[in-house]
Amino acid sequence: MNNFTIDTGKRNASKTECNICCDTGIIRFQKVFNGLKYDTAARCTCPKGLSLNHLIARIDNVFDLEQLKKDIAV
Ligand SMILES: [Zn+2]
Repeated sequence: MNNFTIDTGKRNASKTECNICCDTGIIRFQKVFNGLKYDTAARCTCPKGLSLNHLIARIDNVFDLEQLKKDIAV
């Protein structure tokens, strides 16, 4: 009875364990500083993100993660 997949549109729920980074471990975003936009990236907090180089900032050190989840859900 539990053999089903959830259709989440673009993402394949049966293959993607992390819906923040889509299992890439990296979240890319734009930062605005002094009116200029910078492309930057941070590590995800899932196992894939934590396996990456610790010199890359963790997303929960950059953003309020609960707020970020709400933003992604919109
Ligand atoms: Zn992740």
